[in-house]
Amino acid sequence: MKKSANISIDFKFIRSLLKMVEIRKLKSIFEEGGIHMTDKTLVCKDCGKEFVFTAGEQEFYKEKGFTNEPTRCKDCRIARKNERFNSRRNNDNDSWK
Ligand SMILES: [Zn+2]
Repeated sequence: MKKSANISIDFKFIRSLLKMVEIRKLKSIFEEGGIHMTDKTLVCKDCGKEFVFTAGEQEFYKEKGFTNEPTRCKDCRIARKNERFNSRRNNDNDSWK
């Protein structure tokens, strides 16, 4: 009884240690430049213009856990955001009436 409890604790401990090591490994890969992030040129889905998905943005996306690349340029993204914001505000106004 006592023995098995100890084993399960050790197992958990080892697992958390392994996790820490893995994270450290990943971090060191990033810090040492093992993964080279370069600026990417993508084509906007809305206006068809080319836009740059910078290395910094790629890193930001990765950090946030996004796996998809942006499909719209900054202008279109801002335009869409404003549109959504305005339409929501209009809806809110309607509901207030
Ligand atoms: Zn665009």
